[in-house]
Amino acid sequence: MKNIFEKIIDREIPSDIVYEDDISIAFYDINPQAPTHILIIPKKRITRPELIDKIDEEVVGHLFTVARIIANKLNISKGYRLVMNNGEDAGQSVFHIHLHFLAGRKLSWPPG
Ligand code: 5GP
Repeated sequence: MKNIFEKIIDREIPSDIVYEDDISIAFYDINPQAPTHILIIPKKRITRPELIDKIDEEVVGHLFTVARIIANKLNISKGYRLVMNNGEDAGQSVFHIHLHFLAGRKLSWPPG
């Protein structure tokens, strides 16, 4: 069965897509935690960060390249935060890995 992000990839669920290529897709988060909150995901289904395999290194590394492309495209010059939650205690709610791209406000540290 497809997860919610696979349905977004297959256009079965609408989303506001910022970027797409053969390996990845990026779209605005439905419940933004910052003025700019984008999810960057691989098209390959990997359920949790801890299950990223050696063979996935290129795909996962590519997500960071996409973050740079998006920052350039949206003229984000004051910084952004990239977060990937792993598991329940970290707040992972969708089990298809995704890099949160957060920008547009001063982000506090440590995170909650
Ligand atoms: P997690 O909690 O797993 O780190 O992040 C999952 C994110 O997916 C959440 O920030 C949530 O708002 C977002 N999300 C869940 N369902 C949808 C959806 O159908 N469309 C979009 N655009 N974002 C979603």
